[in-house]
Amino acid sequence: MRDIWNPWHGCKKVSEGCKHCYMYFLDQKNNKNGADIYRTKAGFYYPIQKDRKGAYKIKSGEELKVCLVSDFFLEEADEWRNEAWEMIRERSDVRFFLLTKRPERVKDCLPKGWGDGWENVFFNVTCENQRRADERIPILLDLPFKHKGIMCAPFIGSVSIEKYLQEGQIEQVICGGENYDGARPCNYDWVKSLQAECVAHNVTFCFSETGSNFIKDGKLYYMPKKSVQKLMAFKSGMNYQGKPMEFKLCYAHGGPIDKEDLHVPLYKEKCEQCSHKIICNGCSNCGRCEK
Ligand code: SF4
Repeated sequence: MRDIWNPWHGCKKVSEGCKHCYMYFLDQKNNKNGADIYRTKAGFYYPIQKDRKGAYKIKSGEELKVCLVSDFFLEEADEWRNEAWEMIRERSDVRFFLLTKRPERVKDCLPKGWGDGWENVFFNVTCENQRRADERIPILLDLPFKHKGIMCAPFIGSVSIEKYLQEGQIEQVICGGENYDGARPCNYDWVKSLQAECVAHNVTFCFSETGSNFIKDGKLYYMPKKSVQKLMAFKSGMNYQGKPMEFKLCYAHGGPIDKEDLHVPLYKEKCEQCSHKIICNGCSNCGRCEK
């Protein structure tokens, strides 16, 4: 997928949210073991890949979601991470969405010259339930990042982040139900209460998908198709555009980005009813949302 960069693949399960990890599920379908951790080949250099004209394939202003089949701060990836940081530094004109369940490792994994954080890095922690929220968000709030967010996915228990939102550092919250074998139900009441907290602090909230098992008004709905889940999430009207995030992106030499070089998100008719539009880079015709 155009908006995903997987410099390495594979992972170790670390918390409740990992129980039905989709990476393990998909690897198993391909007779692979998700616990086998390896550095990807061509994909490793994706952010700095160039086309025949010598221009970067990823345009200035695009967002790359990093390590969706692993964790950027995985211990087994320590030997590869500095090279990844160098690409993030080189592409200071691109946004990098980092997501981890290992915030406790981050401060020892930051690159030289990190200072109080790079403008093009958006750091997120997973809070699948209240226990992990109370464990990980305090660490997130203490870490030197310019942009911070929360991902409640898989959403397997109610989560309140009111006391953390008061700090004013959290700029975006995404939540979504679980999928694949053994998917635990997501309760609409959890979504509503989390959304209400975000709206009260004018923080952008995205209800990305219901998950295959969704409880609403005490009734359980089974929706295996992701396109249906996204449509139901969209129709719930829970998405909220809060204070827009501002990423001060620039070229590696520090100069401002020329307008004509900036990525302009492309949205199709189908995007008008997609729950992801509020957090999406625009359509790249990957066909994902038709599945
Ligand atoms: S941290 Fe993420 S990739 Fe790793 S096992 Fe858990 S759910 Fe899977």
